[in-house]
Amino acid sequence: YDDRDGWIWLDGKLVPWREANVHVLTHAMHYASSVFEGVRAYDGHIFELSWHSQRLRNSAAMLGFDLPWSVEEIDAACIETMKANNLKDAYVRPVAWRGSEQMGVSAQKTKPHMAIACWYWGQYLDPGSNGLKLDIAPWRRPAPFTAPVQAKAAGLYMIATMSKHHAEARGYQDALMFDYRGQVAEATGANAFFVKDGALHTPTPECFLNGITRQTVIKLAKKRGIEVIERAIWPEELESFEQFFLTGSAAEIVPVGSAGPWNFAVGDLTRQMQKDYADLVRGKLTL
Ligand code: PMP
Repeated sequence: YDDRDGWIWLDGKLVPWREANVHVLTHAMHYASSVFEGVRAYDGHIFELSWHSQRLRNSAAMLGFDLPWSVEEIDAACIETMKANNLKDAYVRPVAWRGSEQMGVSAQKTKPHMAIACWYWGQYLDPGSNGLKLDIAPWRRPAPFTAPVQAKAAGLYMIATMSKHHAEARGYQDALMFDYRGQVAEATGANAFFVKDGALHTPTPECFLNGITRQTVIKLAKKRGIEVIERAIWPEELESFEQFFLTGSAAEIVPVGSAGPWNFAVGDLTRQMQKDYADLVRGKLTL
């Protein structure tokens, strides 16, 4: 992704894509002091931009560093980067990290940095007509007392990439992860919803990101009078669910056809949520 034309916002100014580099002794690269966002723009409008900018600041704060850019400044920088790259439908990737001013675990003297890139990114996961094929991840989501699980922090993606590669090597598209207790958690980059008897069931976000798309889907469902039950979900129950879909800013709403030995149908409720979300992000529906 480094050798292409375009502009990347870096610490306050737009720089040519190929010149948006950092030093190899960047603290983030050695100690994972990095947080990021994944945002989508539709028809030139960035969906829930300020919510994402606020989450970026919160994620950094959870790792102990404060960003010198306000939500308004991050919003403006995202919009500026989109415009510079002439994009209307785009994926926007803000990332913030501790710099190379100090080596070692302690990072008190490092400076916070931020970059924003954006590019056209089509469908993140292709469900075909029968839904995604998910593996069961060999890695589990950590406990909230082991890692700051509500931060969208790069370090937490180590287990996601390993699980994703493990799944891909076995012919699956992605993996369903359980948490440290063995409860159903989420996929490697998206939250999980299940359908049973016309209601939505979704795990309580105790060990994983309470996604912006997840919270949006809950509101969309409630608007339609669909019951949403947030609770602990155990793998033994997966058999009893009729439908399963994933939610995420990049993934959007994507049906799942199977997860390990369990199979699911691509049904009406999933389709309805897909349509409502598509209408919402393009301003054809309001909450
Ligand atoms: N979980 C993980 C691990 C993710 O990477 C994402 C994508 N940011 C999500 C959940 C969904 O979050 P959101 O809906 O805010 O994009």
